[in-house]
Amino acid sequence: MQELIGKIKDKLSETFNFEYATVRELEHKCFRVFYFVAGMVGLGFLLWITSLFAIIGIPLMVLGMILFFVTLVWMLRLQREPTREVRCPYCASRNELFVSRKEFTCDMCHRPVGVLPSGELVKLLTPEEEEARFEERTRVKRHQI
Ligand SMILES: [Zn+2]
Repeated sequence: MQELIGKIKDKLSETFNFEYATVRELEHKCFRVFYFVAGMVGLGFLLWITSLFAIIGIPLMVLGMILFFVTLVWMLRLQREPTREVRCPYCASRNELFVSRKEFTCDMCHRPVGVLPSGELVKLLTPEEEEARFEERTRVKRHQI
Protein backbone atom coordinates (compact mmCIF):
# COMPACT_ATOMS: atom_id res chain seq x y z
CA MET A 1 0.00 0.00 0.00
CA GLN A 2 2.78 2.38 0.99
CA GLU A 3 4.54 1.48 -2.23
CA LEU A 4 1.42 2.16 -4.29
CA ILE A 5 0.99 5.60 -2.73
CA GLY A 6 4.64 6.32 -3.49
CA LYS A 7 4.13 5.31 -7.11
CA ILE A 8 1.03 7.49 -7.46
CA LYS A 9 2.93 10.41 -5.95
CA ASP A 10 5.78 9.93 -8.43
CA LYS A 11 3.33 9.81 -11.31
CA LEU A 12 1.59 12.96 -10.10
CA SER A 13 4.78 14.94 -9.63
CA GLU A 14 5.90 13.77 -13.05
CA THR A 15 2.62 14.93 -14.58
CA PHE A 16 2.63 18.27 -12.83
CA ASN A 17 6.33 18.97 -13.02
CA PHE A 18 6.13 22.32 -14.77
CA GLU A 19 9.67 23.10 -15.68
CA TYR A 20 9.90 24.05 -19.29
CA ALA A 21 12.11 26.20 -21.43
CA THR A 22 10.77 25.75 -24.94
CA VAL A 23 7.29 25.99 -26.38
CA ARG A 24 7.32 22.35 -27.40
CA GLU A 25 8.24 21.30 -23.90
CA LEU A 26 5.38 23.34 -22.46
CA GLU A 27 2.93 21.76 -24.89
CA HIS A 28 4.13 18.27 -24.04
CA LYS A 29 3.64 18.90 -20.36
CA CYS A 30 0.20 20.39 -20.85
CA PHE A 31 -0.86 17.41 -22.91
CA ARG A 32 0.23 15.12 -20.10
CA VAL A 33 -2.03 17.03 -17.73
CA PHE A 34 -4.88 16.77 -20.25
CA TYR A 35 -4.47 13.01 -20.48
CA PHE A 36 -4.59 12.82 -16.73
CA VAL A 37 -7.73 14.97 -16.63
CA ALA A 38 -9.35 12.90 -19.41
CA GLY A 39 -8.63 9.76 -17.41
CA MET A 40 -10.22 11.34 -14.37
CA VAL A 41 -13.37 12.36 -16.25
CA GLY A 42 -13.54 8.95 -17.92
CA LEU A 43 -13.24 7.13 -14.65
CA GLY A 44 -15.82 9.43 -13.09
CA PHE A 45 -18.19 8.73 -15.98
CA LEU A 46 -17.72 4.97 -15.64
CA LEU A 47 -18.42 5.13 -11.93
CA TRP A 48 -21.45 7.28 -12.64
CA ILE A 49 -23.07 5.03 -15.27
CA THR A 50 -22.55 1.93 -13.17
CA SER A 51 -24.54 4.03 -10.66
CA LEU A 52 -23.04 2.05 -7.81
CA PHE A 53 -20.42 4.70 -7.24
CA ALA A 54 -22.17 7.80 -8.57
CA ILE A 55 -21.37 9.48 -5.30
CA ILE A 56 -17.67 9.29 -6.20
CA GLY A 57 -18.08 9.42 -9.96
CA ILE A 58 -19.94 12.71 -10.29
CA PRO A 59 -17.58 14.78 -8.11
CA LEU A 60 -14.63 13.19 -9.94
CA MET A 61 -16.08 14.23 -13.30
CA VAL A 62 -16.82 17.76 -12.13
CA LEU A 63 -13.35 18.09 -10.63
CA GLY A 64 -11.81 16.80 -13.85
CA MET A 65 -13.68 19.35 -15.93
CA ILE A 66 -12.72 22.21 -13.64
CA LEU A 67 -9.09 21.07 -13.79
CA PHE A 68 -9.32 20.95 -17.57
CA PHE A 69 -10.41 24.58 -17.85
CA VAL A 70 -7.93 25.77 -15.25
CA THR A 71 -5.10 24.08 -17.17
CA LEU A 72 -6.33 25.48 -20.46
CA VAL A 73 -6.45 29.06 -19.19
CA TRP A 74 -3.09 28.62 -17.48
CA MET A 75 -1.50 27.21 -20.61
CA LEU A 76 -2.75 30.11 -22.72
CA ARG A 77 -1.38 32.56 -20.19
CA LEU A 78 2.01 30.85 -20.09
CA GLN A 79 2.19 30.85 -23.85
CA ARG A 80 1.80 34.60 -23.95
CA GLU A 81 5.36 34.94 -22.67
CA PRO A 82 7.67 36.17 -25.46
CA THR A 83 9.70 33.54 -27.26
CA ARG A 84 12.47 33.60 -29.79
CA GLU A 85 13.64 31.15 -32.35
CA VAL A 86 17.07 29.66 -31.71
CA ARG A 87 19.16 27.00 -33.37
CA CYS A 88 20.62 24.19 -31.30
CA PRO A 89 24.45 24.44 -31.30
CA TYR A 90 24.74 20.64 -31.51
CA CYS A 91 22.25 19.57 -34.12
CA ALA A 92 21.12 22.95 -35.58
CA SER A 93 17.43 22.18 -35.16
CA ARG A 94 14.99 24.95 -34.47
CA ASN A 95 13.81 25.51 -30.89
CA GLU A 96 11.26 28.07 -29.81
CA LEU A 97 12.69 29.29 -26.56
CA PHE A 98 11.07 31.46 -23.88
CA VAL A 99 13.26 34.54 -23.65
CA SER A 100 13.70 34.48 -19.87
CA ARG A 101 15.43 31.07 -19.86
CA LYS A 102 19.12 30.71 -19.04
CA GLU A 103 19.36 27.15 -20.30
CA PHE A 104 17.26 24.55 -22.04
CA THR A 105 17.30 21.05 -23.46
CA CYS A 106 17.12 20.79 -27.22
CA ASP A 107 13.74 19.50 -28.42
CA MET A 108 15.40 17.25 -30.97
CA CYS A 109 18.68 15.93 -29.58
CA HIS A 110 17.90 16.45 -25.86
CA ARG A 111 21.32 17.87 -25.11
CA PRO A 112 21.69 20.76 -22.65
CA VAL A 113 22.26 24.23 -24.07
CA GLY A 114 23.19 27.37 -22.10
CA VAL A 115 22.07 30.90 -22.95
CA LEU A 116 24.56 33.70 -22.31
CA PRO A 117 23.27 37.15 -21.22
CA SER A 118 24.14 38.35 -24.71
CA GLY A 119 21.68 35.81 -26.09
CA GLU A 120 24.39 33.64 -27.54
CA LEU A 121 23.98 29.87 -27.19
CA VAL A 122 26.68 27.62 -25.77
CA LYS A 123 27.01 23.87 -25.48
CA LEU A 124 26.82 22.74 -21.88
CA LEU A 125 28.39 19.36 -22.56
CA THR A 126 32.17 19.17 -22.72
CA PRO A 127 33.56 17.42 -25.83
CA GLU A 128 34.34 14.37 -23.66
CA GLU A 129 30.77 14.14 -22.39
CA GLU A 130 29.50 14.53 -25.91
CA GLU A 131 31.73 11.72 -27.04
CA ALA A 132 30.53 9.53 -24.17
CA ARG A 133 26.90 10.18 -25.06
CA PHE A 134 27.50 9.41 -28.66
CA GLU A 135 29.15 6.12 -27.76
CA GLU A 136 26.33 5.25 -25.43
CA ARG A 137 23.81 5.84 -28.17
CA THR A 138 25.64 3.71 -30.72
CA ARG A 139 25.92 0.97 -28.11
CA VAL A 140 22.18 1.09 -27.51
CA LYS A 141 21.57 0.97 -31.26
CA ARG A 142 23.79 -2.06 -31.63
CA HIS A 143 21.84 -3.75 -28.88
CA GLN A 144 18.58 -3.13 -30.67
CA ILE A 145 19.86 -4.82 -33.83
ZN1 LIG B 1 19.82 19.69 -30.71
